Amino acid sequence: MRVHTRCSYCNAGVSHYTIYDTRAEYDMRKGTKYINIQCKKCLNTDDYHLNDLRAVRSPFFGLIFAVSIIAGLVGTFLLSYYTGSSTYQWTVLGMFAGVPFIATSIMFRQNIMKVNAFNQNFLSE
Ligand SMILES: [Zn+2]
Repeated sequence: MRVHTRCSYCNAGVSHYTIYDTRAEYDMRKGTKYINIQCKKCLNTDDYHLNDLRAVRSPFFGLIFAVSIIAGLVGTFLLSYYTGSSTYQWTVLGMFAGVPFIATSIMFRQNIMKVNAFNQNFLSE
């Protein structure tokens, strides 16, 4: 998950990738409430408190979600155009379009829930 804050030197946006889902988990596993991040703009490094970092949604899942909807719709349209339609075929087509759609929508939702969980749970000092 990507966490984001502002550089304490030049105020540019800085971000860091962490495998931990919450601030508490990071603190527990790493034994520190700070993350050392280098600013890509001014190259200064600083320790940022976990409470000052905000998780941001992965654009990856949103993109995959959108692509799967389009691919599902286009695929369904093309297949029904070339094969004609019967109830059985529509069921098969619906499954082909539906499975990736459901799978990605679950990942998309989980990513949003993770981000919200991270942002809502602050560490006590
Ligand atoms: Zn900076």
